[in-house]
Amino acid sequence: MRVRIGLEIHLELKTQSKMFCACKNDYNYEDEANVNICPICLGYPGILPSVNRRAIEYAIMLLKALNCKPSERIQFYRKNYFYPDLPKGYQITQYKFGSIGYNGYLYLNLDGGKKVGIDRISLEEDTARTIQIETGEVLLDFNRAGIPLIEIVTKPDMEKPKEVVKFLENLRLIIQYLNISDANMEKGQMRVDVNVSVDNNERVEIKNVNSIREVENALEYEINYQIEQVKLGKKIKRTTKMWDDYEKKTKEMRRKESEDDYRYFPEPDIPEFKINDFELTIKTPFDKFNELLKLGVQKEYAEIIVRDLRISNYFDEFLKNNGDAVIGSNFIVNILKSFKELPNVKEFSKLTNLVKENKIPNHVAREKLNEMKEKLNVEEILKNFEVISSEEIESIARSLIEKYPEKFFEYKSGKTGLIGFFIGEAKKMNPKIDPKQFKEIFENLEDTQRR
Ligand SMILES: [Zn+2]
Repeated sequence: MRVRIGLEIHLELKTQSKMFCACKNDYNYEDEANVNICPICLGYPGILPSVNRRAIEYAIMLLKALNCKPSERIQFYRKNYFYPDLPKGYQITQYKFGSIGYNGYLYLNLDGGKKVGIDRISLEEDTARTIQIETGEVLLDFNRAGIPLIEIVTKPDMEKPKEVVKFLENLRLIIQYLNISDANMEKGQMRVDVNVSVDNNERVEIKNVNSIREVENALEYEINYQIEQVKLGKKIKRTTKMWDDYEKKTKEMRRKESEDDYRYFPEPDIPEFKINDFELTIKTPFDKFNELLKLGVQKEYAEIIVRDLRISNYFDEFLKNNGDAVIGSNFIVNILKSFKELPNVKEFSKLTNLVKENKIPNHVAREKLNEMKEKLNVEEILKNFEVISSEEIESIARSLIEKYPEKFFEYKSGKTGLIGFFIGEAKKMNPKIDPKQFKEIFENLEDTQRR
């Protein structure tokens, strides 16, 4: 059975002020309830909303990152309905035409793969926050009313819960790179509604999913449920459900209102406007990933670095300090990533260059990194470490060839396992010798006596 999954994502932007007024945007919900309010976000009669320029900029950054085509003209609409969290009776939002952007896409993997279509991106205002308390009463906090929200609507291009997980992880990473929201799902800064249908049945919407893991669980449950129903010959009705994380099942909420019920009309207080004068440059995780590959970083390491914002920012600084990308990425992924605190980036960059120039053997650098951790100090390493020059290694290698000419001949004739023997002998002569460096030098030597 063919499964089609589409998403509607709401994202609270971390602007200073709200979407249409100057009230503080307390998107982390730290303030006391109902202090960041004014007649505009409460929807009093006679008010005049004005558009938050920063919110428009953030939306444009996101539309670029999601490869959308920008609208030439922006138009806000009123979506009319009453709900306790919207007592003014309408939400200022965008509608089919005049949204910020259309027809984009997002790849599921950093190196490409399947593309998921983005239908549109629009801007709107958030509603008040409802908080249910133990007595069953519902409290309202209007600090949230009017916070800028971006709505991202995808095409129903995903077929498996795992694809949805990848999509959401990539989207959240993009948002974090653009630094337009913290996209914390538990705090409600990023909210996901899922639409899912099987075969040509009606779609079911699942709301109230608070983490990517729960989205995956809800979808697995709902898809199995719908497939069973269809196998029993039942039709799937268009419904809205919610995910109950305690019972691990989806439950029906209410019949979805049709669009006519909302009586959309253009917001009379905000005239249509153009957005073509915004010059904004952005860097996405996809750009970063490709940059790292170009520097010679292996794919697996590049992905790990790009997907971890702390490490990714550290790596940026590391490159600015002229660290060696290949050696650095290896040490970062295999050693540094587990450190609570990262070493001084200048020291770390220096270390990778000394390794590259063979002034500190790779194995010593690793040892010292593990030992010194965030207290990494290259001077200290050099002070206590006698650097063996390549000339010195070569002379040790030559003396071994002289001592064991037969073994060297066998080695050169293809018995490569003998390198272990020579490394062992070299270490007896100087325990600080780096096996890798020794091997490189040794391999290139010819037996002068036999020539
Ligand atoms: Zn306000």
